[in-house]
Amino acid sequence: TKPKVYNFGAGPAAIPLNVLEKAQKDLLNYENTGMSVMEISHRSKTFDNLLNKAKQDLKTLLQVPDNYKILFMQGGGLTQFSAIVYNLLAAKRQQVPGEEFNPPLDYFVTGSWSAKAADEAKRLYNNVNIVIDVKKSKGSFESIPPKEEWKLSGSKAAFVYYCDNETINGVEFPFIPEVDPSVPLVCDMSSNILSRKFDVSKFGLIYAGAQKNIGTPGVTVVIVRDDLLTKPKSVNDQDKGVPVVPVMLSYKIIADHNSVYNTPPMFPIYISGLVFEWLLDQGGVEAIEKINNEKSTKIYDLIDKSKIYRSPIEKPYRSRMNAPFRIVPEELEKEFLTGAEELGMVQLKGHRSVGGIRISMYNAITLDAIDLLINYMIEFEKKHN
Ligand code: PMP
Repeated sequence: TKPKVYNFGAGPAAIPLNVLEKAQKDLLNYENTGMSVMEISHRSKTFDNLLNKAKQDLKTLLQVPDNYKILFMQGGGLTQFSAIVYNLLAAKRQQVPGEEFNPPLDYFVTGSWSAKAADEAKRLYNNVNIVIDVKKSKGSFESIPPKEEWKLSGSKAAFVYYCDNETINGVEFPFIPEVDPSVPLVCDMSSNILSRKFDVSKFGLIYAGAQKNIGTPGVTVVIVRDDLLTKPKSVNDQDKGVPVVPVMLSYKIIADHNSVYNTPPMFPIYISGLVFEWLLDQGGVEAIEKINNEKSTKIYDLIDKSKIYRSPIEKPYRSRMNAPFRIVPEELEKEFLTGAEELGMVQLKGHRSVGGIRISMYNAITLDAIDLLINYMIEFEKKHN
């Protein structure tokens, strides 16, 4: 079946048509239970199987080593902004006993989402170190400055945080930042997880909200190394300077209960599982990475050749997932969006904080959809040049 529209939204984003069709087929009677997956008990064997299969498939797709736990958590990406601070300070405390405990938390600020994560860390804790703030040093989020400009805290830090792909600004790391090997590297991969191969073992923790490359809002995938799981204390045996971790934010508690400490977001986990199966059927991450590279290369080539489209991002740091651009003159942007919608290409409006147009091209966006959009962009330019 052909989709009714081509959804280029940044998230909630397009879900593969096969996945939606499978979900529709399952909807009234999941695995012969006589009911939908939203109605079965979260403690049932049926749900246990579903969750473990989803975990196993993700483990296969990303080649997650055995010393990592895969968690399905709630509260979206933003909840992780806080959970990371709580849990990783507690983990650091295990290595640094004694009276004084005030390790720095290192944050790369390369776009709106890492800026927001750093702000939350500052709200919760009094020693946040900004490794680099690209907006401050360059005037806008347009690149990732070289290593020489990073101000890392070295082995003192409780963790180093960065956002691999800035969904709003369209800046993506073309490398994994090199940090002190004793310090856990923490990464927000909400908008590019499963889009390219990477080495999980370089990280202490990776997380991703589901609503871009995994599925539907309501679940956040966390991949965390075993040594960072610490038993949460209560205020009575609390250590000065170490925050108490609320139970629902505790990686240790969620891991010990296989993500079913309380009622988990069953339908989002189910959809994630279908997306993982779909991706395995496509040939896995390596196969989709090739297609993703082809899609984004086509888009940026067109932008660079054009006289009316402008990408604000320096070439090596352009996101393969989200391409924000402007049209010169800007008055044409409204007409561009209306014309695209008339052809069934929707959600192309840039984020309200940066304006312009944004093409989000996650795994579920086919090359055909990109070709259609490219044809439209060429025709639009001819009309206005
Ligand atoms: N990080 C990134 C990179 C994002 O794109 C988003 C959401 N678009 C978030 C974090 C926040 O996620 P949520 O809305 O699930 O809290």
